[in-house]
Amino acid sequence: MQRFSKIPATIVTGFLGAGKTTLIRHLLAHAGGRRLALLINEFGDVGVDGDILQGCTNDACTPERIIELANGCICCTVADDFLPAIERLLALDPPPEHILIETSGLALPKPLVKAFDWPAIRSKLTVDGVIAVVDAGAVAAGRFTEDPQKLEAARAADQAIDHDNPLEEVYEDQLLCADLVLLNKIDLVTPEARETIVGDIAALIPRAVKIVPIIEGRVETDVLLGLDAKAEDDLAARPSHHDAEEEHDHDDFDSFVIPIAPLVAPEPMLARLKMLAERHDVLRIKGFLDIAGKPMRLLVQGVGARFQQNYDRPWCAGEERCGRLVIIGQKGLDGAAIRAALAEPFASAA
Ligand SMILES: [Zn+2]
Repeated sequence: MQRFSKIPATIVTGFLGAGKTTLIRHLLAHAGGRRLALLINEFGDVGVDGDILQGCTNDACTPERIIELANGCICCTVADDFLPAIERLLALDPPPEHILIETSGLALPKPLVKAFDWPAIRSKLTVDGVIAVVDAGAVAAGRFTEDPQKLEAARAADQAIDHDNPLEEVYEDQLLCADLVLLNKIDLVTPEARETIVGDIAALIPRAVKIVPIIEGRVETDVLLGLDAKAEDDLAARPSHHDAEEEHDHDDFDSFVIPIAPLVAPEPMLARLKMLAERHDVLRIKGFLDIAGKPMRLLVQGVGARFQQNYDRPWCAGEERCGRLVIIGQKGLDGAAIRAALAEPFASAA
């Protein structure tokens, strides 16, 4: 018998828009009385995910049990941000029974798992499992694989072209560290495409890892928690594209926040966002819109050109009604053009 039992922590990784927050929301709603604490990391400082989770009226997630690090990538700020946040969660009375960590969509999970091997953390916590959430629709659409035609064209233009695909690297790094893969949004792909994706993922990961197909983050809590992987003891079996580097960076990606003026109706703006996402190959758009006459704010989430929106909660008393969107893309994203397009007035319906 262990003299001191460590608190298990589950790391939820997955690319931008894979469905991590939806998964965690579902998990909180089916926590089965477990005392959970949450650490949420986001790329782009609007803090949408934390806000969605704060908004759930579940006993499992009272505000002090949720810490948000909306500063980019947890993998780069492990010592400065992650350690103090974990200490705050451990100091809760009563202490959490299980800690969930949602990493940002661009974060690499391995540096985070490594931190669990540090003596200060190791004595108190263990990585119960790394869960990689995959957007089956994005994979099937070729989001993470180099377009052979584009690559040919680039090679023709420059013999010495560095053809590393940053999206592919992040996607693969997240899978390579996983103890469990959730193939989310399988309703977006054909059964054949699903087979192919499962085969590709199994071929990529050099260990036997369970791949579970799901829709909208719906999966039994017992499948997610209690994996008992002790991932911090098993780092060598989790290769990364960045193993040879002292430090990694996220220079391949850009993000910015745009305030959006109040709107008469959401549809024209949504159509414009979809058009911009396609034209500029935007990876992720999310945030809130202020629709005139509506007591609730409109939550907007786009993955590529796929958009979802819903009125998620009323504007609070004392809260400034203010539309804001965070836009994330690969380096070179034409922020000026996107800003200009979003600032243009809409044609009057009259
Ligand atoms: Zn990083």
